[in-house]
Amino acid sequence: MQVRQCDFCRMPYQSSGKRICSDCFLKLDLDFFKVRDYLYEHDRAGIEEVHEATGVSRKSILYLLKEERLIVGDEKGGSCGFLTCESCKRPINTGRLCAGCKNQVLSAIQESVGTVNRPKKLTKEMIEESLDGVAKLQLR
Ligand SMILES: [Zn+2]
Ligand SMILES: [Zn+2]
Repeated sequence: MQVRQCDFCRMPYQSSGKRICSDCFLKLDLDFFKVRDYLYEHDRAGIEEVHEATGVSRKSILYLLKEERLIVGDEKGGSCGFLTCESCKRPINTGRLCAGCKNQVLSAIQESVGTVNRPKKLTKEMIEESLDGVAKLQLR
């Protein structure tokens, strides 16, 4: 156990590897279910609409986007500039990095570890599987 600063509320807490404290973890889980349930009934609602209808804060919605639990924008990856890559500032629709920067980080990790076996290319099915349980939050 090590003391860290919570990514969400900025309070120090005893971390077991997570980036956020257990209070925020529970709160974000509840927020996620509220947003997900709302999106089941109202497909492609905007962030403002979801915020007002569910009472979930914009900060929570943004954090869930960064955690890749929500996606914003259309299938082509348009994001209306709500989220940007933390490295190159290109608009993205989920997570913290764009696909290009993510690949760079991944290959840098692989090189530093010296892995011989490169992972297989992700298939469409694998990507869809990994997105299971992710609600799609569409910005208008
Ligand atoms: Zn916290
Ligand atoms: Zn990038």
